[in-house]
Amino acid sequence: MRLTKIVCTIGPASDSENVLKKMIDSGMDLARLNFSHGNHQSHEKTFNKLRNLCDDLAIGIDITGPKIRLGELAEKRILQKDEIIKLTTRDVVGKNDTFPINYPNLTKELKAKSTLFINDGLVNLVTESVTDDEIVCRVVDGGEISSRKGVNFPDSNLSVRVPTKKDILDIEKACDLETDFLFISFVRDVDDLRKVKEIVDSKTKRNIHLIAKIEHKDPLNSIEEIASYSNGLMVARGDLAIEVGSAKVPVLQKQLIQLGMRVAKPVIVATQMLESMTKETLPTRAEASDVSHAVFDGADALMLSAETATGKHPLQVMKVMNEIILEAEKNLSLDRPLIVETETSIGKEIGIAAVRLAKRMSAKAIIALTQTGYSASMVSRNRENFPIYSVTHNQTTKRTTRLFWGVKPIIHEFEEDYDQLVFSVIEKLHQDQYLELKDNVVLIAGSMVGISGKTHTIQLLNVDETLRNEK
Ligand code: PEP
Repeated sequence: MRLTKIVCTIGPASDSENVLKKMIDSGMDLARLNFSHGNHQSHEKTFNKLRNLCDDLAIGIDITGPKIRLGELAEKRILQKDEIIKLTTRDVVGKNDTFPINYPNLTKELKAKSTLFINDGLVNLVTESVTDDEIVCRVVDGGEISSRKGVNFPDSNLSVRVPTKKDILDIEKACDLETDFLFISFVRDVDDLRKVKEIVDSKTKRNIHLIAKIEHKDPLNSIEEIASYSNGLMVARGDLAIEVGSAKVPVLQKQLIQLGMRVAKPVIVATQMLESMTKETLPTRAEASDVSHAVFDGADALMLSAETATGKHPLQVMKVMNEIILEAEKNLSLDRPLIVETETSIGKEIGIAAVRLAKRMSAKAIIALTQTGYSASMVSRNRENFPIYSVTHNQTTKRTTRLFWGVKPIIHEFEEDYDQLVFSVIEKLHQDQYLELKDNVVLIAGSMVGISGKTHTIQLLNVDETLRNEK
């Protein structure tokens, strides 16, 4: 069983039924629909295809957030070092030295001598002067720009925040589609997440999980609060590298994963993991190393973006990602992440006790009976190499716990009588050949038997004895 999960972005290279089915069969755990591209109609079609192909697959919708972009350009243009160009908030087609930008307030909020990056940080500009509707910039590092390329302003404090008007419509659509996860772009503080949650709660009673994409420097100032409020984090290395500088990203990746383990929230590592495979059939040595080090860091999940959305070899990428993860996981003890605890709780202590007991008793697996996924997360965060069966009667929980490190979700009917519930779970896992009669298992519970978000019970069970005792 692979412990580290795989998130795949779906796009033109992968949205046919045939390719989606193969991606599901080869282990995609979570499909990501990126609402920065396409339209509601095309995403709905893909969403329904995914649900029809596999009810166990988790689906996440990524909302754009306040991403500022160039408008339409008549054609691609290579900017040369020291060239002077103008960005305008007027609605024009970009050509010669004037290019439109889609944020009307920009001229009010940007100062002279600010830094700008276009096209994933490749092109670097500095502002020379700002007028009512134009920003005059000097090119510091030249390169190609084209229509709709993203623009970052790492040293400016722009007022535009998630959720934008487009985000609100996208969140409403995501609720209608009954998505499992929402990925929230450019979160700057916990209030951004609260606003998104308010919209979600006004639209649906479902527990849609909010993943805060960390791709701006501001959230790093209140990251504990953001991690506690959200249902997980994404290390969105593309924009994050532009905002804080590439050199800081590998360390932040480790710190964010360790924070996720401390607060028992899943962390996804994203962007350019196997980028060269958008064209080639093999990864570079550095990419293979990046993927395995994310596994050693203890990431819950690794994400493929352009590799599966627009790349030439989406299925080959999945195969390579699987192979590298499995190889790294054979050697997890080489580089075991440590959780540095600042505080504890009943749930955390039950989770720690469960893995200790499982190790001492050579248990086959740890079972978490769970309604919200909380109990499963209490075990998963310890990153101990045991299969964790997250048993739930809740369809959404079945899919959201699929993102957790080492967790295999299993759907099972709720029963009022606790002993009868334990018996029937063990019976099911035995019948489905996850467990043999001789096996010992550790079982933890709490939320499935009544109170949500509490884990207070731990049991050490032998499968044979449990089944015999009840008969
Ligand atoms: C990123 O910036 O790394 C990221 C994942 O965000 P997006 O793909 O939405 O730009």
